[in-house]
Amino acid sequence: MGQLTGGNPLVDGHGRRISDLRVSVTDRCNFRCQYCMPAEGLPWLEREEILSFEEIERLVRLFVSLGVEDVRLTGGEPLARRDLPRLVAMLAGIPGLADLSLTTNGYLLEREAAALVAAGIRRVNVSVDSLQRDRFFQMTRRDALPQVLRGLEAIGSHPSVRPIKVNAVAIRGFSEAEALRFAEFARSTAYQVRFIEFMPLDADAAWTPDQVLKGEELRALIDAAFPLEEVPREPSATARVFRFRDGGGEIGFINPISEPFCADCNRIRLTADGKLRTCLFSLHETDLRGPLRAGAGDRELEETIRAAVWRKELKHRVNEPGFRRPARTMSAIGG
Ligand code: SAM
Ligand code: SF4
Repeated sequence: MGQLTGGNPLVDGHGRRISDLRVSVTDRCNFRCQYCMPAEGLPWLEREEILSFEEIERLVRLFVSLGVEDVRLTGGEPLARRDLPRLVAMLAGIPGLADLSLTTNGYLLEREAAALVAAGIRRVNVSVDSLQRDRFFQMTRRDALPQVLRGLEAIGSHPSVRPIKVNAVAIRGFSEAEALRFAEFARSTAYQVRFIEFMPLDADAAWTPDQVLKGEELRALIDAAFPLEEVPREPSATARVFRFRDGGGEIGFINPISEPFCADCNRIRLTADGKLRTCLFSLHETDLRGPLRAGAGDRELEETIRAAVWRKELKHRVNEPGFRRPARTMSAIGG
């Protein structure tokens, strides 16, 4: 655990201890996934709006001093930010930080894997929605599956980075045809495969409840071909994980819509422009960049952070009438 200021961990008003921080390092991306970004992209943040590596490091140090143990770098596409391994090295040196990980679309991973490992990355998640080249293109609008698989292989060749997870967004009418391929992939490689239910955070606002292919439906499809048994779950783990009864490999299901895990949520997020978000679906955010650049001391920033975390949402309201989508979409939040 980080060294706590005054010994008080970061807790919210519902008694949840916050120990996991997602840091978005850019809102830009080299892919245009259907469930995330429009084909033409989004209006990007200006360079000066984005936190510098030094600003990110200062905030992460402060969060770790308040009890954050796990930091994940995300985006947009984090590897699209120039010199990302330099940031990784800066963060990896923070005393008290137990885990430093990265979520990437994998396109630039082949080039960056060795530098990321040398800088101290501990775990990597790669997003892959289809194992068939034409369908991968259809979903990401980039003909990049071979490049992404080379990236996976490159990071997989470093035994210090484990586990390596492969995440697929599950969309009805698309992902059913991927289920068995991913199951075979999970059985024949060391990667841990996870399906994530489609959430209403797409920039096209095309999400509808019926497009959510539930984790349980996918599990049943896979179980019929390769019988599964559930692996006991850690309290704040978001995935339900299953192993294949007849051999190696495991497959997991992250079900934020059909089985919300808000009661155990220990996460907060920092956007690329320095806003603190206490839920993916937050309608409010707290500016940290303003005070940081105005010269605020750690104590003042800590107070701002504690007050924001205290108001962390009890739960998301996606399944309730009157649900309102946040103004920011997934790539601008940092998924
Ligand atoms: N660009 C990187 C990537 O794709 O891995 C990191 C950022 S991306 C926003 C993080 C994760 O969010 C990815 O696994 C992506 O598939 C997922 N994601 C994006 N939009 C989503 C949505 N509407 N519903 C569920 N997951 C989504
Ligand atoms: Fe880019 Fe990741 Fe969004 Fe796809 S999911 S468009 S790779 S940020």
